[in-house]
Amino acid sequence: MSYDIETRCLHLEDCQGSCDRSGAVSFPIYQTATFAHPGLGQSTGYDYSRLQNPTREQVEKVVAGLEGGVDAVAFSSGMAAIAAVAELFRPGDQVLVDEDLYGGSVRLFLNISKKNGIEITDVDLSRENVEEYITERTKAIFLETPTNPMMNVVDIAKLSEAAKKHGLLLIVDNTFLSPYFQNPLKLGADIVVHSGTKYLGGHNDTLAGFVVSGTKEIAERVRFLIKTTGAMLAPFDSWLILRGIKTLALRMEKAQENALRLAHWLKSRTEVTRVIYPGLIEHPGYEIMKKQASGFGAMLTFEVNTKEQVEKILGNVKLIAFAESLGGVETLITYPITQTHADVPAELREKNGINDRVLRLSVGIENIEDLTRDLEQAFGVL
Ligand SMILES: *Cc1c(COP(=O)(O)O)cnc(C)c1O
Repeated sequence: MSYDIETRCLHLEDCQGSCDRSGAVSFPIYQTATFAHPGLGQSTGYDYSRLQNPTREQVEKVVAGLEGGVDAVAFSSGMAAIAAVAELFRPGDQVLVDEDLYGGSVRLFLNISKKNGIEITDVDLSRENVEEYITERTKAIFLETPTNPMMNVVDIAKLSEAAKKHGLLLIVDNTFLSPYFQNPLKLGADIVVHSGTKYLGGHNDTLAGFVVSGTKEIAERVRFLIKTTGAMLAPFDSWLILRGIKTLALRMEKAQENALRLAHWLKSRTEVTRVIYPGLIEHPGYEIMKKQASGFGAMLTFEVNTKEQVEKILGNVKLIAFAESLGGVETLITYPITQTHADVPAELREKNGINDRVLRLSVGIENIEDLTRDLEQAFGVL
């Protein structure tokens, strides 16, 4: 039987055998470090929780299923997942990375990967021709779409053609849309990474990360890495992510609906000079989004006329929290220049348009009128 994604958020397709857990509807938390062996040369299938734990295995199966991957590995955070992917490369390798990425990924690439002898080259993948940057040493392309925080849209299928032609790995951080709205593996990517802290968990309460592999060969390399470096997701946190995913479909739909309404509301304000949401028809990536994703997500970025206006908004929002992170049920407002993107070199920030008047909203599932009323009073406070 093949289920639709809303059902797959709750039920595994092959759960017959593995469902024998005293009938528990909620998957049990196997809070154990090690597993007893029935005898010499025998195993229950589990030996030690760094290698595998039933609760972690369950969340990995769910995420692999949602992304259409061969395998998913659950890490203790999104950065742990991306750091493991960075370990796939050797000194002398070159990796092309999109210019507009999550600040933590930029920090990892510029400090750790570079120190390890990997050449990191920034490319504006939404506008430039990637083929001009490919050399004999190029091994991979790493991107997010839509990008954080400027919402540039990258054509995954088009890049995958270039990657296949030159034998490169195409790695997509799919955190912003979640597997509910976008499945990069189905568009030709080789690896998908997630900060499970965001939409998958969905409640601003747990850190997690995932690496989803498109082939068995990549999956084996990632399994070797987690077994060796050990940044796996704990059983209880695996359970929290499993529980979060159960409502992924509902949360994504409601948050997206709110985001579109907020984008229009912001556009009507005289203090707002720019609204960047890929679900607006005038967004340059709108058509590509429609082609490669089933929704536009709930992240939006806007620019106000003065820095004083930024201070007014951040100091006066009441319902909306001024906090880093995204993808949870609560609406959060972020100031990228001092928060998520503080470690991105100033020239790169400027080039991408991340100035001191840019704010980012992760729209949650509150009542839309309450959200606009909160922004209205924050905009208007004298
Ligand atoms: C948050 C985030 C990360 C890092 O994930 P953590 O779980 O915070 O380590 C990576 N990529 C994107 C797009 C993110 O938003």
